Amino acid sequence: MTRLGVLGWPVAHSRSPAMHNAALAELGMGTWRYQLLPVPPQRFEETTRALGGAGFVGANVTIPHKHAALALADEASPAAREIGAANTLTFRPDGSIAAENTDAPGLIAALPLAPRGLSALVLGAGGSGRAAVWALLAAGAAEVSIWNRTPARAQALARDLGARAVARPRAADLLVNCTSVGLNAPLEPSGVERSASEAGALNQLGLTGDQVAEYPNVIDLVYHARSTPLLVAASAHGARTVDGLDVLVAQGALSFELWTGREAPRAVMASAARDQREPD
Ligand code: NAP
Repeated sequence: MTRLGVLGWPVAHSRSPAMHNAALAELGMGTWRYQLLPVPPQRFEETTRALGGAGFVGANVTIPHKHAALALADEASPAAREIGAANTLTFRPDGSIAAENTDAPGLIAALPLAPRGLSALVLGAGGSGRAAVWALLAAGAAEVSIWNRTPARAQALARDLGARAVARPRAADLLVNCTSVGLNAPLEPSGVERSASEAGALNQLGLTGDQVAEYPNVIDLVYHARSTPLLVAASAHGARTVDGLDVLVAQGALSFELWTGREAPRAVMASAARDQREPD
């Protein structure tokens, strides 16, 4: 058995096993299996170093291990080093571990248009905000601004990567939400509840419903089965939207290709990720 998996804590909610196992089945790779690897931080290094010997050729890495994954790797790509985080590990036959970051190219691949020469506003300055800012700059965006609830974090990130921190969201060609706002939006609200929760969520992002019209392309990294308040508002204004599952599939497909050398069946991965039931 050739093994793949996703390291996280907690990780039970991950859609990666469904997505990758569907891809393996589609390509007839019956001796491969992708599994959940729930590992607490204090066991991360020891467990990860043992994976190669246990038949694993690769693993995705999610919260809270992305920094630790980069730190333990023997080799890291320039993207992983510059972002300071790895979401993909490869276990080589010689026992060494290579780190890559497919979150950044995955985001670019999922965008509705190439960012070269465009302006972008990133909301959030956490781990995914950092990867998004790096990715947009590397892909040639003309100007990348960062807004964050805690302004000092936006300023530090802007200094570090050569972007611009802003005190209030400003108009841009692309808006990328890298905060967790919208994660807990009510699933099936009534009209009144929906508009109140939508306004509340936008408010946490420093936006009003009208301001959302200033962004013709809106990407929300948050994913659950239904749309987020930001994407609902953006669609109502006629924006092109991309949801977090599209981004998840794009990064997963790149990891899959790295490990298997095969072209990832993206449509199969996308429907497996979307079909997985919400956790209770
Ligand atoms: P993180 O490092 O913990 O950063 C969280 C960010 O959200 C920070 O900027 C934080 O602002 C902001 N935030 C949290 N609560 C807020 C609130 N109530 N109002 C305003 N801002 C708030 O998390 P992350 O790893 O970047 O992940 C962020 C989101 O992206 C999560 O929902 C995650 O699931 C999703 N994600 C999706 C993908 C994908 O493939 N689709 C990949 C990675 C992450 P402060 O600095 O002020 O605390």
